[in-house]
Amino acid sequence: MINRRALLKNLSTLPLVGGIFGGNYLLAKEAATMAGKPYRDYFKELGVRTFINAAGTYTAMSGCLMRDDVMDAINYASKQYVNIDDLQDKVGERIAELLECEAATVTAGCFSALTLGLAGVLTGTDAKKAAQLPTDLSGMKSEVILQKSHHIGYSHALRNCGVKLIEVETAAELEAAINDQTAMLWFLNYANPDGQIKYEEFISLGKKHGIPTMIDCAADVPPKENLFKYTKMGFDLVCFSGGKGLRGPQSAGLLLGRKDLIAGARQNTLPRGDTVGRGMKVNKEETLGMLAALENFLSRDHEADWKLWKGQIQHIHDVAASVDGVMPEIHVPEIANHVPSLRIKWDMDKIKMDGNAVREKLRMGHPSIQTVGDRESLGITTWMMNPGEERIVASRIKEVLSGMA
Ligand SMILES: *Cc1c(COP(=O)(O)O)cnc(C)c1O
Repeated sequence: MINRRALLKNLSTLPLVGGIFGGNYLLAKEAATMAGKPYRDYFKELGVRTFINAAGTYTAMSGCLMRDDVMDAINYASKQYVNIDDLQDKVGERIAELLECEAATVTAGCFSALTLGLAGVLTGTDAKKAAQLPTDLSGMKSEVILQKSHHIGYSHALRNCGVKLIEVETAAELEAAINDQTAMLWFLNYANPDGQIKYEEFISLGKKHGIPTMIDCAADVPPKENLFKYTKMGFDLVCFSGGKGLRGPQSAGLLLGRKDLIAGARQNTLPRGDTVGRGMKVNKEETLGMLAALENFLSRDHEADWKLWKGQIQHIHDVAASVDGVMPEIHVPEIANHVPSLRIKWDMDKIKMDGNAVREKLRMGHPSIQTVGDRESLGITTWMMNPGEERIVASRIKEVLSGMA
């Protein structure tokens, strides 16, 4: 049997293979062949097209590719039984220690962390109250306050608990909206620049009125510091996606925060059946996979990751810029998907295609490439690619924009 490192070394001596067709696919095939196992190409069998992900961490595009450590942990977990509550207790303790917060639990994604966190605020560890959600909030509070500019589709996760969402714009409006039904104050991290109430004031309003605060930080690593920042700042609950920048399972996430509230959240999910979260199952595989992803992320050389992404983006930028009329521009979003990114615009009098047409050509080509953007531009990130794929993306963009494809 040949291990992955040796295999990678072998493959790197073969010119171009890993780069051209996507490293992981080839590695899996080579590994199976070398181990004398048949290789099943499931996606091909099923007629499901794979693609180079030049877009980012999008749920519809299956999110991210998990780190090898994550799959090792998943495979390890798949061979033995454990008690789910024991495992969640211990993994939660380990995560809380790693992230220097009071308590933590693994959820089925950030969306699930939002629902379970709020459920915990509403019910505490009362099983009877947990059974009442989401249709009967008697004996519980029933309103969550948020800023209008923070109100996005994901707030449905809160409504899953049966609460009413109350929108406000100013601190004065927030204080006026607080009443004996106010369960929680909710904050969307990436919307911070758009709202009038900023972190510190928001948290202090929560503390002043004795109401828990929650922040949604789903896509907000890197930087690594964000995993520590918001619990330390004073938010009572902090939610992250496991399958975005952390490169863990798509169906995992983190809920961090106050011990009593995390215990409440756990009351509202498996293995307890009569709960709003019973369908948000995380088994031992995702739970360990999430821990492995977090450990991998915390111990990474983040500067080296950044340098890789920056170099990839620069390469695509330079190749695109060599086409007459094309104006690529490198930028880094301040918060959420905080990675080197490229926005490509072009003179539509010279190149008679809009963004949608270019994206469609890239998607329909060989290999298929997924990008984002709008009618005016093409949006690219490289952090979810296999290294080497940026060269294919660059040359395809050049072909399409110069009218050769
Ligand atoms: C992605 C995202 C979510 C949902 O996270 P999942 O891990 O996919 O459940 C929630 N909120 C925001 C702001 C997001 O970007």
